[in-house]
Amino acid sequence: MQTLTDIVRPAPESIGEGDGVFISTYGCQMNDNDSERMMTLLEMMNFRPVTSPDQASLIIINSCSIREKPVHKVWSEVGRYRKLKALNPKLKIGVAGCVASQEKGKLKADIPLIDFVIGTDAIDQLPEVVTRARQGEAVVRARFEHQQPYHVETMVRNPGVSTFVNITKGCDNFCTFCIVPFTRGRERSRPLGHLIDDVKRLVDRGTREVTLLGQNVNSYESECGTNFAQLLARLSRDTGIERIRYTTSHPKDFTDELIDVMGEHGDKVMEYIHLPVQSGNSDVLSRMNRGYTRAEYIDRVERIFARLPQAVLSTDLIVGFPGETDAQFADTMSLLRDVPYETLFAFNYSPRPMTKAARFTDQVPDEVKSERLNHLLGVHREISFELARKYVGRTLNVLVERHDAETGRVVGRSTQNKSVYFTGTANLIGKTLPVKIHEAFPLVLNGEATA
Ligand code: SAM
Ligand code: SF4
Repeated sequence: MQTLTDIVRPAPESIGEGDGVFISTYGCQMNDNDSERMMTLLEMMNFRPVTSPDQASLIIINSCSIREKPVHKVWSEVGRYRKLKALNPKLKIGVAGCVASQEKGKLKADIPLIDFVIGTDAIDQLPEVVTRARQGEAVVRARFEHQQPYHVETMVRNPGVSTFVNITKGCDNFCTFCIVPFTRGRERSRPLGHLIDDVKRLVDRGTREVTLLGQNVNSYESECGTNFAQLLARLSRDTGIERIRYTTSHPKDFTDELIDVMGEHGDKVMEYIHLPVQSGNSDVLSRMNRGYTRAEYIDRVERIFARLPQAVLSTDLIVGFPGETDAQFADTMSLLRDVPYETLFAFNYSPRPMTKAARFTDQVPDEVKSERLNHLLGVHREISFELARKYVGRTLNVLVERHDAETGRVVGRSTQNKSVYFTGTANLIGKTLPVKIHEAFPLVLNGEATA
């Protein structure tokens, strides 16, 4: 396995010279995690994180191309740094993430202010790339790694109470709307032994909760055939971790075995399940290539609640997918009444380059998409407030993550993934406490510790 020392070797330790580095991150948790890994590598090269671009001699834009005009966003952000470059000739600007993987050398050719482009699979090469860029070389690293299994260490300099752990990368599902298979490549799983060691090391360094990350965690398969349910069981039993979360699940791969393991290890595996449905209509789901019907999805949800009555669900929805009729959209609306989603992430369909649906000829007009989205969000807002009410008066176990000195309050997450605020001191960080809830909003709960 690649170790931290192997990864950093190509760059002289002090190349960063104590200079500031600013990373601006767009998109999903996968990108947050990649930024964390980049920052760890850069700190090892003697860069120091700064909170604003004008304090930096190195700026990295970690881009996302899942929706709307991503290259445009990179253009405009780089444009904002033009003046800084004139003031500080040492300043280097790099673009990482999905736009880097998608556009490769074209990005550098189109936007000359960019000094380097580093794709999602090349993060381990960042020290070398930055070293070369600082020597005046224009560097583009955006090829996919095809090694199987895939090796990467959870690199976090100062792991927090809660930390991400990558278990798979890429995706093979080719949903017709989605660019991920083109920007993150084919799916690869990390070896089981590496994951167990990784989590054990994090526990030794004070981490209490890990979130296992993958585009479709349910299709994890180790080199020896361990599936995702078995991985959860092993991590629960063999690592000493207090809490395990995971994201994202694909409904077609959410098995009864997984539901059973969640029940068996309910003390460790949190009951919050993000189960993206995308649409409530089976014909739309079929054109999306999702691999399940509305009825199969609802069957999955019923199985979850039968075994895990305390489960909390959230979902992703796309409105205005090509060809979506008013009646098909109405099916999505009725799903909101059939499935109690406490949180919902809904998006207007956005045609993505390289994807099949972008070539469908029956695109829905933007104003129809926006009308549907506003209607859906409005209805769900009421549902989510209604669902939140059940927390008032209940006592929830909260793992404390942060302290706010100004308000004298701490915040942590309940097992249901709600942010819970209550009065407390910094020494509570990392502790799990019972908190009685007296006020409830869809994402945030207020309460007081009972112990
Ligand atoms: N792998 C996850 C899954 O299968 O649901 C999600 C990956 S994606 C980063 C997160 C969400 O973005 C998707 O669930 C989908 O709702 C949304 N999304 C992806 N492509 C989109 C597109 N072209 N237009 C609008 N929303 C999109
Ligand atoms: Fe995209 Fe579908 Fe893969 Fe999720 S499962 S990353 S939506 S292709």
